[in-house]
Amino acid sequence: MTQSFHPPVRTLMGPGPSDVNPRILEALSRPTIGHLDPAFVGLMNDVKRLLQFAFQTRSALTMPVSAPGSAGMEACFVNLISPGDKVIVAQNGVFGGRMKENVERCGGKAVMVQDGWGMPVDPQKVEDALNTHPDAIALAFVHAETSTGARSDAAALCQLAQAHEALSIVDCVTSLGGIEVDVDGWGADAVYSGTQKCLSCVPGISPITFSERAQETIRKRSHRVQSWFLDMELVMAYWGENTQRAYHHTAPVNSIYALHEALIVLEEEGLENAWARHQANHLALAAGLEALGLELIVPRHSRLPQLNSVTVPDGVNEAVVRRQLLDEFSLEIGAGLGPLAGKVWRIGLMGYASSHKNVLFCLGALEAALNRSGGVAEARAVYSSL
Ligand SMILES: *Cc1c(COP(=O)(O)O)cnc(C)c1O
Repeated sequence: MTQSFHPPVRTLMGPGPSDVNPRILEALSRPTIGHLDPAFVGLMNDVKRLLQFAFQTRSALTMPVSAPGSAGMEACFVNLISPGDKVIVAQNGVFGGRMKENVERCGGKAVMVQDGWGMPVDPQKVEDALNTHPDAIALAFVHAETSTGARSDAAALCQLAQAHEALSIVDCVTSLGGIEVDVDGWGADAVYSGTQKCLSCVPGISPITFSERAQETIRKRSHRVQSWFLDMELVMAYWGENTQRAYHHTAPVNSIYALHEALIVLEEEGLENAWARHQANHLALAAGLEALGLELIVPRHSRLPQLNSVTVPDGVNEAVVRRQLLDEFSLEIGAGLGPLAGKVWRIGLMGYASSHKNVLFCLGALEAALNRSGGVAEARAVYSSL
């Protein structure tokens, strides 16, 4: 007979999924109810309000898409981009490349603005592109580039888009809950995130939000959205306010319990406290990594606290070390992607996994695997100075 699956107990310090808070796993296991049950409808209203809190927006078109972050990305593009539309896409890692794919599959034309992997998006280059292409209808960029650990200036980039009457489409998959995301303050138009990074929830849900301007664009479309599942007009009949909840698709009921719990955890901690915790643990980890002779690839002022990319020392096989951490310490860290494959490790400190204990554990494991010392001591010194 095939046996039930019991996963090994890991510490997840890669690029996602991150360790899920046990409170959230417990919520997930509560009894399933109907997705149109009045009790579930009440829960949906709560989830919407909590997402507005997490995104810092008052937009009524704020909801969880029933699919992972990649579907949230797709939802933004298919609803806002029509055939023939020109979109400026800033790329400084893997995910900007996916945005380009999305624009092209919507029949649009992507104008690429490239920055080095590990660097933030350069607002000057974006401004030049907006000036050169005044007909661009949108600017798309990644706030927290998980493939490198670089943080871009979302406020400045959204402002540039607004000044050029372009919509802004912002990937906040890795930023939400880990660093400031201020959708209304930035004036961002379409923002998507994911549950499995700094919300420390199970993978498979994508919170999204659309501004008034974006909603206007959707209402004025001349072509029907090519995706039935992600068409916001249809989805809103299910998630919208004061609507007669109509059946659109069966919501992943238990995953919504989990997201609800994750957002309550964030609300209890407070946004600023969550960001400060991520930053403090990052400072300790970064100091420890540097003490081990590992270099962070992102310039100091643009580092994401929740994703730390460090160079693999010469003569070290990065895959062997990762495997050793997994086998001996049950610790997962991430590999490099694209041009960084084989050259870096990506160490995540996301959500529930961003803890004092994990920082020291990871540094200790790396000390053992690399046969070096001083990382744990350095991180402890940082903690006692904070
Ligand atoms: C993880 C990630 C995604 C994709 O999310 P999935 O849930 O894996 O589909 C998109 N953008 C960024 C920046 C990410 O880190």
